[in-house]
Amino acid sequence: MSPTYDVIVIGLGGMGSAAAHHLSSRGVRVLGLEKFGPVHNRGSSHGGSRITRQSYFEDPAYVPLLLRAYELYEDVERATGRDIATLCGGVMVGPPDSLTVSGSLRSATQWDLPHEMLDAAEIRRRFPTLNPKDDEVALYEKKAGLVRPENMVAAHLQLATRQGADLHFDEPMTRWEPYRDGVRVHTAENTYTASQLVICPGAWAPQLLTDLGVPFSIERQVMYWFQPRGGVRPFLPENHPIYIWEDADDVQVYGFPSIDGPELGAKVAFFRKGVECTPENIDRTVHEDEIGAMADHMSRCVPDLPGTFLKAATCMYSNTPDEHFVIARHPAHPESVTVACGFSGHGFKFVPVVGEILADLALTGTTAHPIGLFDPLRLAAAPA
Ligand SMILES: Cc1cc2nc3c(=O)[nH]c(=O)nc-3n(C[C@H](O)[C@H](O)[C@H](O)COP(=O)(O)OP(=O)(O)OC[C@H]3O[C@@H](n4cnc5c(N)ncnc54)[C@H](O)[C@@H]3O)c2cc1C
Repeated sequence: MSPTYDVIVIGLGGMGSAAAHHLSSRGVRVLGLEKFGPVHNRGSSHGGSRITRQSYFEDPAYVPLLLRAYELYEDVERATGRDIATLCGGVMVGPPDSLTVSGSLRSATQWDLPHEMLDAAEIRRRFPTLNPKDDEVALYEKKAGLVRPENMVAAHLQLATRQGADLHFDEPMTRWEPYRDGVRVHTAENTYTASQLVICPGAWAPQLLTDLGVPFSIERQVMYWFQPRGGVRPFLPENHPIYIWEDADDVQVYGFPSIDGPELGAKVAFFRKGVECTPENIDRTVHEDEIGAMADHMSRCVPDLPGTFLKAATCMYSNTPDEHFVIARHPAHPESVTVACGFSGHGFKFVPVVGEILADLALTGTTAHPIGLFDPLRLAAAPA
């Protein structure tokens, strides 16, 4: 007899660990299967920090989910004592008509979110490390800041285990099929059955969700840590906001205060601009010319940041064509399978609320959260 569960969660990265927590908190029998070890650095949920913010330039439809995510950050912090969110404030900088500035303002206005508009002189006065051009402006949001991906994943795994979930690491799913009223899941070691399957595959979506009809593209991304010229003091979170900075050529760069002690400096990265890859062929080496290009770019907007290069690491985005998420019942298996994928480089701040949505979908088939934007059918190839 194969072991039976109410729900099997595939992938225990950002989204899957949150799903395992929310499902097990509702008293159902949960099995989580993960290809690698707990809190690993081979997918999309590592590197010490992720930006979080509410004045969402991508679309105002994300705002109610962010308001809920912020409540859940506090719940997770309280339940585990782990450091999850640091709300040090954030600036979205660029020309007034850039998406970063105008899109953020649109969400802030539509949802009545506290914010301030700063001109270049005011940006320089408040944040002396930032060096905007005279025609650049910023939306300042006090509630923006960062979340810590490794702590968040570890906290969700810890809570799921405490609530009785079985979490199996280094045990990838090899395949699954519909079985009776539910599903049957195979690994090299075992076969499991369940009423419901929740698939959170990150960059493995093109392999695990071929029948979803979504043309994902996986993108290599690099994170860079520099020791600022003159030391980290002006870069500490009490003095320094997170920033997303778009220039006139639509290049977006984003960075963080110094959060992990002077030896780790401060982190910065380009948003998008990466090379297409697969989880198998991604180039994990960061090359001199890439480091030089980042240092050059930063010497214009945050001139003290690129003092000494410290280290770099790679990570993967899983992009959909419109860069909006996919969160839904699987259209080909609507009775028993739920999917969460295609987070397109901006999903981490939503991790706890996505966990809640996935538990709703798996257990009731629906959710009160607004997820209309994330329907995979919007992206399915048109029939020939
Ligand atoms: C450099 C970088 C910077 C980012 N910055 C931000 C930011 O500032 N703000 C923000 O909100 N978001 C940001 N993101 C995006 C965010 O981190 C991702 O959207 C999020 O981590 C995706 O989580 P996930 O659960 O989909 O993927 P993952 O966390 O990678 O989880 C997928 C899991 O599935 C497992 N898996 C795959 N195949 C199998 C199998 N067959 N069986 C079992 N398990 C399997 C994998 O091992 C993995 O653990 C960034 C991403 C990167 C790479």
